[in-house]
Amino acid sequence: MSLSLEKKQKNFFDFNYQDLKQFLSKDLNIEEKKISMRAKQLWQSIYKKGLVEINNLSNFPIELRSQLNSLISLQKPKIIKTQKSNDGTIKWLIQLHDGNEVECVFIPEKTRGTLCISSQVGCTLNCRFCHTGTQRLVKNLNFSEIIYQVMVAKEQLNDWQEQKKITNIVLMGMGEPFYNYDNVKIAVEILNDKDGLNYGKKKITVSTAGIADKISLAAKEIGTYLALSLHAPTDEIRELIMPINKKFKIKDLVEQCKDYAKITKEKITLEYVMLRGINDSETCAKQLTKIMAQFPCKVNLIEFNPWPGVNYLPTERNDMEKFSKIIQDAGYVSTIRRSRGQDILGACGQLRTESERKKTTYQ
Ligand code: SAH
Repeated sequence: MSLSLEKKQKNFFDFNYQDLKQFLSKDLNIEEKKISMRAKQLWQSIYKKGLVEINNLSNFPIELRSQLNSLISLQKPKIIKTQKSNDGTIKWLIQLHDGNEVECVFIPEKTRGTLCISSQVGCTLNCRFCHTGTQRLVKNLNFSEIIYQVMVAKEQLNDWQEQKKITNIVLMGMGEPFYNYDNVKIAVEILNDKDGLNYGKKKITVSTAGIADKISLAAKEIGTYLALSLHAPTDEIRELIMPINKKFKIKDLVEQCKDYAKITKEKITLEYVMLRGINDSETCAKQLTKIMAQFPCKVNLIEFNPWPGVNYLPTERNDMEKFSKIIQDAGYVSTIRRSRGQDILGACGQLRTESERKKTTYQ
């Protein structure tokens, strides 16, 4: 058997900036003084201009292009389904290189466009009102798989101009970002890079169900806006709808949020999905204001989005408004988030794919 001398192709998107420089120096033998320049050119061409063919890398000498071509691929996962809502929201089902499927959603508004991306395939949290919660955790996404969602969406929208179509990114799709902390951290670094995708930290929101032991670390290391899926003003109610509350109590979350707000100097957004007869009473609203008094925050009341088989009902619109007014009268900001993309199961908590964890044994 002869040993193959052919080097295995690497995928560009598996590199962070540091890795790319290393690759250019070790695998391509580019001379030391040119590495930074070449790394920057490559990074900018791909992340800023949407380059898909190394052959079109006009600022690279032809020989270098062909060398690069044989060593790395710019292949991105494919979209296997596109759904467009009546309200303009677009949901893409993406098939990753390993066959798993993940969803991301683009929500256009008058003055901005938000891309909602996923951090895991499936989820472990099992929040009772969330569709993703009915899908077991299949896997943590690698940072490249988080970034692919942005790249694929930008490609679809042809979003390579200075004036961006995707102006904001929210990690509010499938999964719990803080249970995939390291990959989310690297993905945010890549999103943040000025020579690349160039999303400032104030253009990115990470949403968590409240993994208390990661929150203040994230303030220091990730530093984006934080959204906390609170959804209930007491441990009793929260525990009924979010099993994670057995582990991390509201008191712990409040302490962590104080820290987060102190470090990032920004308000935290509390997300509160309104479930009829469960968490939408006037008493609940008053209890919520007591929590809001403890750290800088605002609340986003979310219309509950139903999905097949769920047992909850949305709160009536005027009850939502009453709830909101109690909070505003107490001096806090409360907004009601209009649901988008419901008709394509693209709204909050409606994402779910068919990917299943491969069983290793047969029962
Ligand atoms: N695990 C993270 C990221 C998911 S974000 C988190 O919990 O924050 C998705 C947001 O949509 C969360 O606030 C989630 O609680 C909310 N959500 C889940 N199911 C929903 C539903 N059916 N209707 C409206 N919002 C829902």
